[in-house]
Amino acid sequence: MRIILFGPPGSGKGTQAKLLAEKFHIPHISTGDLLREAVTKQSTIGLKAKGYLDAGALVPDDIMIGLIREVVAGGVAKDGFILDGFPRTIPQAEALDRLFGELGIQLDGVVSLRVEHDEVVRRLTDRRVCRSCGRIFNSSQLRKDDPAKCPQCGGELFQRSDDTFATAQKRLEVYVRDTKPLKDFYRLTGRFTQIDGMRDISNVYEEVVALLHKGQPPSKSK
Ligand code: AMP
Repeated sequence: MRIILFGPPGSGKGTQAKLLAEKFHIPHISTGDLLREAVTKQSTIGLKAKGYLDAGALVPDDIMIGLIREVVAGGVAKDGFILDGFPRTIPQAEALDRLFGELGIQLDGVVSLRVEHDEVVRRLTDRRVCRSCGRIFNSSQLRKDDPAKCPQCGGELFQRSDDTFATAQKRLEVYVRDTKPLKDFYRLTGRFTQIDGMRDISNVYEEVVALLHKGQPPSKSK
């Protein structure tokens, strides 16, 4: 299974990708996670990317295309993948098409999570991430006795530095300007499905799984 999860920041792509990766035993490739790791390690890409992440801006296409090429061509994705956070611009999508063409990879579909803009900002500023297992939570899911600990593994929870109100708004603007136009790009391929991402995690998950079990996301849009 080879799919792209698409949607604005905070639409639940990361949460759904983690659940789907566990269920289907395929890698979850998140460019945001890869960049944050690179920043922590202070690698060459990390040093170049840090300022963009902090500002809620997109990392330049040449860096991102190089990064995804390394990961996909490196073999991690040969038996399937869930791509989360890439592509985010038309040039990235075109480069991905070329890369898949070179490697003989056929994309099964693009599943887009539709979430209203106010809800995006609310979710981003409410989000907490576990430093140990990487799972994502919102405040209603935290332990009452110890809200600073991961409800799953007990690890330390933190708020991403780009999940502040101002940076969340900036990221949403960037999404509307640079990333949303990709919907039309993928609609033309006939393998684009948009679903209502405003619902509970479990409802969204069930709908995505049902779509994937049918073989591939059919071409429909809500
Ligand atoms: P995410 O975790 O997907 O919300 O990504 C966090 C940040 O990483 C974004 O706000 C961008 O600064 C950067 N980023 C992640 N993926 C990409 C991409 N495909 N193109 C450009 N920047 C990206």
